[in-house]
Amino acid sequence: MNSIEKIVRPNILALQAYSSAREEFTGSEGIFLDANENPFGELNRYPDPLQKQLKQRLSVIKGVAPQNIFTGNGSDEAIDLCFRIFCEPGKDKALTFTPTYGMYEVSAAINNTELIKVPLDNNFQVDKNKALLALEDESIKLVFICSPNNPTGNCLDTAKFIIQNFKGIVVVDEAYADFCSTTLVNKLEQYPNLIVLQTLSKAWGLAAARVGIAYASPFIISLFNKVKPPYNISKLNYTAAIKALENTDNYEEQKKLLLEERQKLSEALSQIPIIRKVYPSQANFLLVEVSDANSVYQNLIQQGIIIRNRNKEVKNCIRISIGTPQENKALLNALQNITA
Ligand SMILES: *Cc1c(COP(=O)(O)O)cnc(C)c1O
Repeated sequence: MNSIEKIVRPNILALQAYSSAREEFTGSEGIFLDANENPFGELNRYPDPLQKQLKQRLSVIKGVAPQNIFTGNGSDEAIDLCFRIFCEPGKDKALTFTPTYGMYEVSAAINNTELIKVPLDNNFQVDKNKALLALEDESIKLVFICSPNNPTGNCLDTAKFIIQNFKGIVVVDEAYADFCSTTLVNKLEQYPNLIVLQTLSKAWGLAAARVGIAYASPFIISLFNKVKPPYNISKLNYTAAIKALENTDNYEEQKKLLLEERQKLSEALSQIPIIRKVYPSQANFLLVEVSDANSVYQNLIQQGIIIRNRNKEVKNCIRISIGTPQENKALLNALQNITA
């Protein structure tokens, strides 16, 4: 067994994957009487279970080979698969650094896996000593690092340090990587224990289509493919994803605009009296400390503007997504209307 095989749940390692009709015969010509489909209609055929065309396109854009790519029903599917593949329910553990994305905790609970939460330091960075100490627990199989982190907006510089110092699987969630310049997708060969998650839900503008991506070694990708439901991306979503990925001009334009707006909004917010601090952001949102997050949240709702109240995670902080220039102006006006 190689070192990664030892981390996999034995039942998953032994699992014989379901072989679907569209997997057994992959040609596109012929009379298809193999999948009990209705022969009439537009969406009558099962989609490609391995999403080859989508992976081919991602491969070109990201410079990663198709066999290093898994695509699923949002990154949330990949997060769940990580638990199902590596964590024996009721026995193994996972670890993350908080405050962070709430889905790791929910997915851990669904899979009956304890999630150890190591608090980030005052700069929202990983405290290396605390991390190493916590990772001494040998039942930890999985570490989640979100970078740029949600809701704090900063990149966690220690992702590589954790990968190098932990024998289990390290999942680096790069949902917001499009908005910053650092990524680990080109480090898969160097680190066989690395899984990088990205998504089409943010910069690519396809949250409704539910398409998430995991980049990892071909062995880990083969485990994802074994455990996922056979047709995990619908034809409609598949087509939308390929179309979006073909229009890189649109993606670049929107990203540029959002980054400019992030800068403008950040500066304008700093001038507003009820705002105590605007945290630097490498994502398409800003974490902002106000005098009273609960009341600012309610007040903005009264004015028809919905933001995220993160008071429970980071005291008196709200999280604001970068909108269109008009939406951001409306937000600034609404905040000016609030008196402390
Ligand atoms: C938004 C977000 C995702 C995206 O999830 P999808 O299921 O792909 O829409 C993943 N991780 C983090 C940290 C996020 O904030």
